[in-house]
Amino acid sequence: MSRQRLGSTDCVHAGTKPVELSGPIIAPIVHCAPFSFSSSAEVMAFQEGRSERQQPEYGRMGNPTVAFVENRLAALEGSGRAVLFASGMAAITSFLLTSLQSGDHVVLTRDCYRRTRDFSTTFLKKFGVEVSVVEPEICEIEKALRGSTKMIFTESPTNPYLNVLDIEALGRLGKSSGATTVVDSTFATPINLRAIEYGVDIVIHSATKYLGGHNDLIAGVIAGSAEVVNPVADMRSNLGGICDPNTAFLLERGLKTLALRVERHNSNGQALAEYLESHPKVERVYYPGLASHPHHAIAKQQMHGFGGVVSFEIRGDLELTARFIDRLELPHLTPSLGGVESLVEQVVVMSYWLVPREERLKLGLKDNLVRYSLGIEDIDDIIGDIARALDGI
Ligand code: PLP
Repeated sequence: MSRQRLGSTDCVHAGTKPVELSGPIIAPIVHCAPFSFSSSAEVMAFQEGRSERQQPEYGRMGNPTVAFVENRLAALEGSGRAVLFASGMAAITSFLLTSLQSGDHVVLTRDCYRRTRDFSTTFLKKFGVEVSVVEPEICEIEKALRGSTKMIFTESPTNPYLNVLDIEALGRLGKSSGATTVVDSTFATPINLRAIEYGVDIVIHSATKYLGGHNDLIAGVIAGSAEVVNPVADMRSNLGGICDPNTAFLLERGLKTLALRVERHNSNGQALAEYLESHPKVERVYYPGLASHPHHAIAKQQMHGFGGVVSFEIRGDLELTARFIDRLELPHLTPSLGGVESLVEQVVVMSYWLVPREERLKLGLKDNLVRYSLGIEDIDDIIGDIARALDGI
């Protein structure tokens, strides 16, 4: 019997052959950086787009787990293509850098995620892109349009005041002006609104929020026609912001319960908003499901539900509002939103504390504003906790 001493070549190569999968119904997690070819002819055919092969040669350009989830996201948004990024901000910045050039003008609605506004008004400006920040109303967007306007970017509902834009009118405005229309639909999710069906070009998500849904991942999505999204995927290969396969797997698992979760977020949101609206210690409630919300009519017309974030102002100042927050026992005191656990923040303290008060007020952010992201807990427990906290201030 011949005896063999194993070496490192054996350890690295012995028994390896390309993995063939026979029908797993769950997306396999493929941890791999380089993806091989069988011959130089196959490489050439792939480079020239003559082969059936989908997988690029290197994991920064694409990954099978990521591609599986991207197909699911495109199907859920009703878009030709979706690309997945390492965060919502990686998606947003990659998209803006792909689509804009010096001399272009962008209209951005004021109430939005702080870093989207910061990136647009500071970084893009350095590259000669002008940005007009306007109130989240179609007529204000229309007034700001110029010959050089290449993009209209809005959230709907917006963060943190839950403004809702008329998405169909936005799509029409884009078509008539030639500007690309972009909706950050993180707060809506495709369950409550599929913006592409209403005629906008691009939908963006911080998948960190409802799509993932469990406060355990960071990811972002750009969805739209292949024509608009393909160059963004290409830019992702340059900027390097692809989502990793583990995160993509977790996101895909989250997607399966998206409709169930959003249904609960919607009903919890509506119940809390109604409760708060009748409470004497609450000055104002912002929730598109309330008849008192300025955009209730359009929200009702275009959305299947109003989401799980309720913003409200405590009747009092910054300190009293902080006391209320500190008395809450059920939600975690933290930024973010859209997960199964309830989360709460006093917006100016959590996200704008180092911004001078006058500037915060210019952005419309009041000291007493609370943003509550309802989880899927039982609504009686959520309201009971809030009632007790309000009683004590
Ligand atoms: N868009 C909205 C509406 C958000 O609320 C956030 C984050 O809070 C982002 C984008 C950024 O997403 P991410 O935190 O996944 O980078």
